[in-house]
Amino acid sequence: MVKALVAGAGVAGLTTAIALRARGVEVEVFEAAPAWRTSGGGLGIACNATKVLAALGIDLRSAGLGRVCDRFTLHTARGRPMRELPIASISAELGSPVVNVRRADLIALLRDRAGDTPVHYGSEVVGYERGRDGVSITRADGRTVTGDLLIGADGIRSAVRARVAGPEPVTEHGYVCWIATVAFEHSALPPGGAAHYWGRGRRFGLIDIGGGHVYWWGTKNVPAGRAHRGADTKREVLRCYAGWASEVREVISRTAEADIVSVPAQDRPFSDRWGDGPVTLVGDAAHPMLTSLSQGAGAAIEDGYSLAYHLAHATGVVAGLRGYERARRERTRWLVTASRRLSRTEQLEHPIAVCLRDLVIRYAPASAVRRQNIAPMRFHLPIEPEPPATSPRADKEAIR
Ligand SMILES: Cc1cc2nc3c(=O)[nH]c(=O)nc-3n(C[C@H](O)[C@H](O)[C@H](O)COP(=O)(O)OP(=O)(O)OC[C@H]3O[C@@H](n4cnc5c(N)ncnc54)[C@H](O)[C@@H]3O)c2cc1C
Repeated sequence: MVKALVAGAGVAGLTTAIALRARGVEVEVFEAAPAWRTSGGGLGIACNATKVLAALGIDLRSAGLGRVCDRFTLHTARGRPMRELPIASISAELGSPVVNVRRADLIALLRDRAGDTPVHYGSEVVGYERGRDGVSITRADGRTVTGDLLIGADGIRSAVRARVAGPEPVTEHGYVCWIATVAFEHSALPPGGAAHYWGRGRRFGLIDIGGGHVYWWGTKNVPAGRAHRGADTKREVLRCYAGWASEVREVISRTAEADIVSVPAQDRPFSDRWGDGPVTLVGDAAHPMLTSLSQGAGAAIEDGYSLAYHLAHATGVVAGLRGYERARRERTRWLVTASRRLSRTEQLEHPIAVCLRDLVIRYAPASAVRRQNIAPMRFHLPIEPEPPATSPRADKEAIR
């Protein structure tokens, strides 16, 4: 049986493990963190990703996770509605929902669905060596493990990517993002609702994740270097949204300071090089993107499915990995680029530019708004040849 080593047990690593196991591949996962994460913010799992999860037998709704999003409104900073986005009709057209979840709940569910797949916590992967029979990884404690292939699912600062594509600094985009989840209900946020508030160089999102809880995030343009400072006090965050809609100020007030996490806005220039023989990359390790399209985790979920598909239908492991990379390149390049483009518009600061932007939001034709919102959420599952393969025809001799 072919054995895959996976570095990283985030959304990408765990989804990949589930998809590979479903195709009969043996999998072992190595995660640097000492235990799985129980903190952090939320995630919007868009129609494309819920469709892939469903193909893997995972239905977030029947698992009792999160809340289906059927109302999405853009507001001014003070809370005046500017535009309703057609999220319910887009979900209906695409045949799968957008589900907003607490990130830790999604990770716990994926870990559960990975079944008896070994996941070694406190196991940082620091390097790999290609050999005649595959690849061996070295962990931080010096121990090595050998497999037929290695999948770098180790996030934006991926050690596997650094080895595959060479070290390269991340790109800073000059703003910080605060995130938190908290118990909160407010008449301005209907059940299943997502509300975004757009100001000058700052934005805020308030999202129902079910069970009387919300996920909120706020962004603020900051001078270079400031986005890394990390520990902003709750008072600073509140000051940033003084004068904004009451629900924005209330939800921040209701959140414990220790629960507010600050993340710098970063991505990387898109790289075509994801692979090195029996080694490939998935998720943020391959194509980190800004959060504007809410598609980083969605693309990671697509990657995992696509990788397992290509491995199952290729003549060898290496051919399967290159096939996966070719299949994913165009879509993920587009997502990285489109996220950057949208982010620039969202974080505009000059009053005239902001005024023009808000006019476009208010008066753009409904058809254009729909087209723009549906585009990132369209994803076609690869078609299974008949009869469907149940295990990879990966030929170990083909590994070079
Ligand atoms: C503020 C914010 C909001 C977002 N909102 C959304 C959203 O609404 N929808 C959406 O789809 N996406 C969203 N994203 C993007 C999404 O979070 C990421 O794209 C997604 O988490 C990528 O998953 P990943 O598994 O590739 O990487 P990660 O989540 O970073 O996981 C990588 C894992 O690898 C581990 N690791 C790191 N180095 C090593 C190593 N050397 N060895 C072993 N393990 C290692 C890490 O500990 C981690 O567990 C958001 C991102 C941010 C920052």
